[in-house]
Amino acid sequence: MKPQIAVVGSINMDLVFKTPRMPLPGETLMGHSFHQVHGGKGANQAVAAARMGADVHFVACVGDDVNGKSCLQALAQDGIRLDHIRAIANTATGVAGILLDDAGQNCIVLTTGANALLNESDIAGASNTIAQAKLLLCQLETPLDTVAQAINSAKQADVKVVLNPAPAQALSDQILAQVDYLVLNETEAAELSGVAVTNVESAAVAAAKLQQRGASVVLLTLGALGMWVAASDSSYFLPAFKVEVVDTTAAGDTFVGSFAVAIAEGQDLRAACMLAQSAAALAVTKFGAQTSIPLRDAVERQLH
Ligand code: ATP
Repeated sequence: MKPQIAVVGSINMDLVFKTPRMPLPGETLMGHSFHQVHGGKGANQAVAAARMGADVHFVACVGDDVNGKSCLQALAQDGIRLDHIRAIANTATGVAGILLDDAGQNCIVLTTGANALLNESDIAGASNTIAQAKLLLCQLETPLDTVAQAINSAKQADVKVVLNPAPAQALSDQILAQVDYLVLNETEAAELSGVAVTNVESAAVAAAKLQQRGASVVLLTLGALGMWVAASDSSYFLPAFKVEVVDTTAAGDTFVGSFAVAIAEGQDLRAACMLAQSAAALAVTKFGAQTSIPLRDAVERQLH
């Protein structure tokens, strides 16, 4: 039986320009190449969860434009259920314009479009689906009030909650206390804990602060280094898998979506983190967001 997961989050079209360097204000620069890829943290995490084998129900908004249609088509190809996705008339789908230079730096302009219109009626309409899920997965590319309502709805039905508080923004202790698994990177941890995270030691301090603020389990990802795990009874470091890096886009999203599936399957915390790290490491070996997210078989092969 596939575990049922509800994802509440964003859908974006990523427009990626590869350039020799960043342009200056007023300058026209010849780029190397252009790629249009399906993205958005919600969509990427939904795809990761589906490729790990979950039955994914996605609650989201798109515009009534070509980008929206293309994004929905891609989600459907991964078997994601789209009943709770609302296409909004006269509205643009979220778009991220991404400049990637030869030095590996990126600059991103994000217009949230339809994502900003995901509202309390969307959550109310999906409340049965959320209540029937093993787990709810959210990020912060949709309005915070809507995310908070989704979390409430899950808690009322005793459904576990995984929150990836990205992009970084302030959160109340009340929200943190409702989250079973808080999964975040160094930047987000620094925003929520006030501790600059630069290594494993500072990650441990930041995670402990977040637990003091009410979070149950904190998973702080540290890029190529690995991750810090802080649970109620133990805290420990897990190293990342060693791989050839091509593009780290969606490493975090692959981690979060895969972790959610392992927890929904009933795996223990350490095993769930290792599955997620294996999936995320494979994602960095390929270009793009959803294009780089691996299937379960490959993830298991790397693990064993
Ligand atoms: P992004 O914003 O790039 O999607 P993130 O900042 O949210 O990612 P990271 O902490 O960079 O998240 O990465 C998440 C996990 O992905 C790490 O804990 C690690 O397991 C894996 N990972 C990331 N980069 C690498 C790498 N270069 N080699 C191996 N594993 C990696």
